[in-house]
Amino acid sequence: MHKIPITFYLIFLLSTINNVVRSSKEENIYTKSYENYIIMRVIPSSMEKINLLNNIYFNFSNVYFLRAPSKVGQFVDVMLPKEKYITFLKILSLYETKYIIKTKNVQQLIDDEKHKINSLNHNNIYLSKKINKNKNKFNIKQYHSYEEIYDWSYEITTKYNNICSIENIGQTYENRSMIVIKIASNTNQKNKKNKKAIWIDGGIHAREWISPATILYIIYELISKYDSNQEIKELVDKYNWYFIPVINPDGYEYSRNTDRFWRKNRNGCKTLNNKKKHPKMNKKGYHQGDCCGTDLNRNWNWAWGTTGISKNRCSDIYLGFYPFSEQETANVKKFMEITMLNLHFYLSLHSYSQILLLPWSHDKSKYLDDERDLRIVAKKAVNALKIKYGTNYRKK
Ligand SMILES: [Zn+2]
Repeated sequence: MHKIPITFYLIFLLSTINNVVRSSKEENIYTKSYENYIIMRVIPSSMEKINLLNNIYFNFSNVYFLRAPSKVGQFVDVMLPKEKYITFLKILSLYETKYIIKTKNVQQLIDDEKHKINSLNHNNIYLSKKINKNKNKFNIKQYHSYEEIYDWSYEITTKYNNICSIENIGQTYENRSMIVIKIASNTNQKNKKNKKAIWIDGGIHAREWISPATILYIIYELISKYDSNQEIKELVDKYNWYFIPVINPDGYEYSRNTDRFWRKNRNGCKTLNNKKKHPKMNKKGYHQGDCCGTDLNRNWNWAWGTTGISKNRCSDIYLGFYPFSEQETANVKKFMEITMLNLHFYLSLHSYSQILLLPWSHDKSKYLDDERDLRIVAKKAVNALKIKYGTNYRKK
């Protein structure tokens, strides 16, 4: 038997087992367990191996790619349940692909993380007035629920209203309010209208909790040190800063309460939970199946649907029905169009790869006109991070 038919059969096996797992109604009711899920680090040494991994990545939702295939020699992190492990190993050995086991039981990591969060001591805390009154504390170095983030954001904008304001930019699929926090000073009145804008968003991928936490930290640094730190004062005076700490609040909450590895938004999930009839295929021929949610980071209109996407709704990289089909991305689009930001810098924070991605990542042969400038800024950022934390970033 040739390699390709065997591979096809093995990949089919991966997919079949997945259907059995996904048909379990329990997933929608109970917190999803990752007991005996394994994380493997695979190192593809040829384009053939990259293509094999991409085939699984783009077409199957049962194998989680925590770090997606990129180029030869760059490792790929794959998470899968124990029962699919043997099949996956057979595929890897057929292609003589090297791998190492990183974790044998992912649930243990989740439990450890929970334990660590619960036992974090509450020193070094910013105490907001209202929260303080309720005898709760908001620790800037802790992970918080969306409700806590929302309340804190309103409180700090009241407290620091000389440089900080907040706007509700629309509702999510599950009717949560999305907020944009603006930090800008009134100095330099002459150039007020021409001030360049900086946009930083976080939490577009639900499970990447460090991203919203980092944004809250940046916000707090800017507002609390404005009066005492000259460098920060200059940054706030010079630019208009816009932050969305959590661009995907529904997914974020779901990752906190039900499925730690949830990545997408929650579009369509209510329909599934209500057990209403759900079409298997929409007009454009995209699969719906028993799955829901869209990868918001695949739902923008630039080169929509061209690379790094899946049309399978069960996939973690499902692209949505059309560009801005999701309330969350549509809200951001509307806000930007109405506010007419004089936008000069857009940064979206993710975890956990150490990559600083520059546009356009859908096509490596296409560059922006100011590609040179971007590279200079990127190099400065990467060097600064290396000095501070010793972190190495790779070029992609
Ligand atoms: Zn991400």
